[in-house]
Amino acid sequence: MSLNKKRGLLFIISGPAGSGKTTIINKLLDTGDFVFSVSATTREPRPGEVDGVDYFFVTKENFKDRIRRGEMLEYAQYVDNYYGTPRRAVEDLLNEGKDVLLDIEVQGALQVMQQMKEAVSVLILPPNSKELEKRLRSRGTESESVIKARLERAHLEFKYFLKYKYVVISKDNCVDEAADEIRAIKKAESLRSNINTDIRDNFFDSNQGGNNI
Ligand code: 5GP
Repeated sequence: MSLNKKRGLLFIISGPAGSGKTTIINKLLDTGDFVFSVSATTREPRPGEVDGVDYFFVTKENFKDRIRRGEMLEYAQYVDNYYGTPRRAVEDLLNEGKDVLLDIEVQGALQVMQQMKEAVSVLILPPNSKELEKRLRSRGTESESVIKARLERAHLEFKYFLKYKYVVISKDNCVDEAADEIRAIKKAESLRSNINTDIRDNFFDSNQGGNNI
């Protein structure tokens, strides 16, 4: 599909567990800067998580059926579970002009970057590895083995740093600052010339050949 101002922006946001990503994303959703693409997952809900809001919690069989039917824009296996983005919902929201936020890990992010060149990718990182481990442990929601697996996974993910267009550091107690940085990225992306060709059209008569430069 050609780029069109009416279409919303698609933001891919990744960050290792413990990066502070979820808190920052919640800020951006609370203020209505983005709408959230609800993913499907085979992992168990955590206390307080709601089906259809935080995730669609599905069985492995159901997840595999969705893949087979081509319903997933991307999917990945992450620490023993599947996670994926339902394609249709994202397309519908973008076509309605909504700015959509995907909170997805690196493998899925790479798949979306391949398929949707206009997607804007942002990697959220803590200031350093020590801080990452500290934050992951202080959540107290996962077992030691899951924490270890998530830390290993985080170190694998750092290798993909340069695949992301933007990087935002989530410093301690600076959620607002990180959210503001993402809003600034969104503002700049919304001003790109190639999604604002309607503005150019205001300055050229169709018979003047405004496309010749
Ligand atoms: P959690 O289990 O902590 O909710 O999520 C684990 C990881 O899965 C996070 O890095 C999160 O960004 C990622 N994730 C959540 N939904 C999706 C998805 O639809 N696709 C992919 N590839 N990753 C996802």
